[in-house]
Amino acid sequence: MSKNYFILFFSIFTLSFLPSNSFGQKKSKEQVDVSLKTNPKLVVGIIVDQMRYDYITRFWDQYGNNGFKRLVNEGFNCKNNHYNYAPTSTGPGHASVYTGTTPAVHGIIGNNWYDKVAEGDVYCAGDDSYNSVGTTSDAGKMSPHRMNVTTITDQLRLHTQMRGKTIAIALKDRGAVLPGGHTANGAYWFNNGAWITSSFYMDKLPSWVEKFNADKSFDTYKKPWKSLKNVKDYVESGIDYNAYEGLFKGEKSSVFPHDLPKLWDANGKYEMLKATPFGNSMTADFALAALEAEELGTDDITDFLAVSFSSTDYVGHKFGVNSKEIEDTYLRLDQDLERFFKELDHKVGKDEYTVFLTADHAAIDVPAYLRDLKIPADYIVWDDIKTKFLQFLQFNYGTTDIVKDFSNDQYFLNHNVIKNLDLSIQEVQEDIAKELLTYKGIDRTYTAYQMWQNDYTHGIPYILQNGYNQKRSGDVLVVLSPGTISYPKTGSTHGSPQIYDTHVPLLFYGAGIKHGSTVGRTEIDDIAPTVASLLGISFPNGTSGSPIVEVLQ
Ligand SMILES: [Zn+2]
Repeated sequence: MSKNYFILFFSIFTLSFLPSNSFGQKKSKEQVDVSLKTNPKLVVGIIVDQMRYDYITRFWDQYGNNGFKRLVNEGFNCKNNHYNYAPTSTGPGHASVYTGTTPAVHGIIGNNWYDKVAEGDVYCAGDDSYNSVGTTSDAGKMSPHRMNVTTITDQLRLHTQMRGKTIAIALKDRGAVLPGGHTANGAYWFNNGAWITSSFYMDKLPSWVEKFNADKSFDTYKKPWKSLKNVKDYVESGIDYNAYEGLFKGEKSSVFPHDLPKLWDANGKYEMLKATPFGNSMTADFALAALEAEELGTDDITDFLAVSFSSTDYVGHKFGVNSKEIEDTYLRLDQDLERFFKELDHKVGKDEYTVFLTADHAAIDVPAYLRDLKIPADYIVWDDIKTKFLQFLQFNYGTTDIVKDFSNDQYFLNHNVIKNLDLSIQEVQEDIAKELLTYKGIDRTYTAYQMWQNDYTHGIPYILQNGYNQKRSGDVLVVLSPGTISYPKTGSTHGSPQIYDTHVPLLFYGAGIKHGSTVGRTEIDDIAPTVASLLGISFPNGTSGSPIVEVLQ
């Protein structure tokens, strides 16, 4: 008997015998409900784009009491929470949190990937069969159609006969489209100074969104980005002036303050806000407007607000994980969270909502910085490898056509060419895997054949297999050496199966959540089944994770 059945059975058992028990106690309704489900008025899912777990601990002393600290001090902290697949990037990350499974099942194998059937590049949330709503550009032509399974948000909609509402919000389209699932009432993202959507959801922006856009409240963020506190007090980060940070166009050095009004036109105008903490503030503003206008969490039918804070990723990519800019961005996000929770207390009620906060991936320390500290780290330039690799293909097979594409650290082979040459696909995969292993910066290689034949249970092969989708993934999988990335020498990136990309925060807070923490390993696909258990609803239909039992009351 599984644990859940046991609890259910036990509840029924106690119910039927209680009226006649010798103490004459009445079984309260509350006790019955607790064993079945928690019924928050609202679930708030928060994904912070590119948040490392250690941002909680490193910046702890600088945070206020009512943002991140409120979640940790009053909620549940899963300290050892990991992505259990690669590539660790935004599209797969958002899909995995909400579907409770990995790219092997949900099919979002990258932000972009080579589509073997269409023989071209596809975007994870792109869908030309729909139109943009709220913009004349193509930025709204999106839908979750490439995500093959349901999300926790879909399951809530199904469970409530579509009465529970789902609204999803992020600066990035994929950060809203994938969490919203296939049945969202609305998903909105930011494009050139306006919140927009897709005709997948609606034919016209709701009046509250039109009004929000017309008010141009985001114009207030066109101001110099000064540090929130004295930058000298940011002792948790490296020095402000260093060689490891990128620049805004038109800037001579990457130190505070960053003069947004002056740099505005050269950096894409409103698009520039995305790479500053103000992008997160704008997201919080818009999420609060949605809370009010959509009347989320105002009745007994649970609603879902999915919010993704994307600016942290843009800032991390530009300035790196050890920059003063990233610290400032997190201190400001902490304030945005405080403001957000305060409003939820006010509008929904303090104990009436449940929050989870996680990230879509973490990020690496800038390898150039690590190298200067004598820590093994490096950069790989694929174009340098390409010449040698093409020579290998030409020499061995008499043609370079054997490789169709390289993306997300996977080589896609042309199976027709291989068959016409009367070669075995398995052998070609193995030969290429062995050749690549001789190149500097490549640490391990695996073949699709291995992914098919084995059932890996731990380590890097396990992570690759969870990211390997039989219909969509490539033929040869490459893992770079620890500390090695393919990226400019400034700023941080992510995407690998290494622990610096997989270790992300996971905090639960609010209705139905215990206070506590664990250092036991939890995995990203455990989030959706945990929330489903809390709500007493069906798991998303591809779920591979398990509920984290310690979290739930
Ligand atoms: Zn990123």
